[in-house]
Amino acid sequence: MKTLITGGAGFIGSHLAEHLIGQGHEVFVIDNLWTGKLAHVESIRNHERFHLVVDTILNESVMNELIFKVDHIYHLAAAVGVRNIMDHPVETLDINVKGSETVLRLANRFKKKIFIASTSEIYGKHLEHSLSEDDNRVMGTVKKRRWAYACSKTLDEFLALAYYDEKKLPVVIGRLFNTVGPRQTGQYGMVLPNFVQSALLGKPITVYGDGDQTRSFTHVQDVTDAVARLMAEPGAEGDIFNIGNDKEVTINELARKVKEMTGSNSDIEHISYERAYGPGFEDMERRCPDIAKINDLIGFRPANDLDVIIQSVIDYFKR
Ligand code: UDP
Repeated sequence: MKTLITGGAGFIGSHLAEHLIGQGHEVFVIDNLWTGKLAHVESIRNHERFHLVVDTILNESVMNELIFKVDHIYHLAAAVGVRNIMDHPVETLDINVKGSETVLRLANRFKKKIFIASTSEIYGKHLEHSLSEDDNRVMGTVKKRRWAYACSKTLDEFLALAYYDEKKLPVVIGRLFNTVGPRQTGQYGMVLPNFVQSALLGKPITVYGDGDQTRSFTHVQDVTDAVARLMAEPGAEGDIFNIGNDKEVTINELARKVKEMTGSNSDIEHISYERAYGPGFEDMERRCPDIAKINDLIGFRPANDLDVIIQSVIDYFKR
């Protein structure tokens, strides 16, 4: 099968490209290298079934040609990382809203099945329980920039479902929770690569806020496996699935684990959100998926636990 991955030179996209090549597919990638890197696709760069186009998904004629020739589209191109979103609000909204609008419109022109990579951010500030696909969203004020990202991705979901309902376009939506693993950079704020790099360099491991906030981390290979299997499952069409790990950890615990597993002498320091991101930042205190729905449909359970995940990131940075 011929597939197109938008954002295929990014952290998750490049792992998905390798996965699909490994399954025997022909893979076309479009990436503007905003946060993607050529180095991410080094292992498949010269593969006969791999084709890279360095361009933006907003370039309609290029996208038209690509979408015309493939069978399936994986739409992963988006603004990435909390720091990036805080620093580049216009680009974030532009690529997430206009980019997804373009990809969906062209997918519909040729009726090509499309996976939309969405995010756990869209649930917002839930505290009480694990997050299920049909939960309400709890958004903060428009004055806080982070919510623009959540709202732009929510719009992508609305648009995808609208195309499914009204135009019969086969779409599958995956809400990715904190995805981590080799190739992820700490440059855009992500916690695990930052902690591991600091620990290996003997620099302070900086926890933002009180560190009691929780996240649940999933290895990127579990995520790409789930994404590919959802696209192969007709029962997933027109629906939304959490893709994540239901084991929750506080950021304080994560810092301690990274320090221990790297054998680092780094101090664990706490700094305010304001110092980390500037004024007007709001964090989620808790985030953990309910994964019953994806488990029921395709039997998904993440294979890698937190220790394996952390070790894979340590090994990556040591290399
Ligand atoms: N965080 C931290 N130190 C860092 C980077 C992030 O304590 O160097 C915290 C951040 O405030 C958040 C959690 O770790 O509570 C996860 O942050 P990340 O940006 O990786 O993902 P997201 O906030 O999108 O879940």
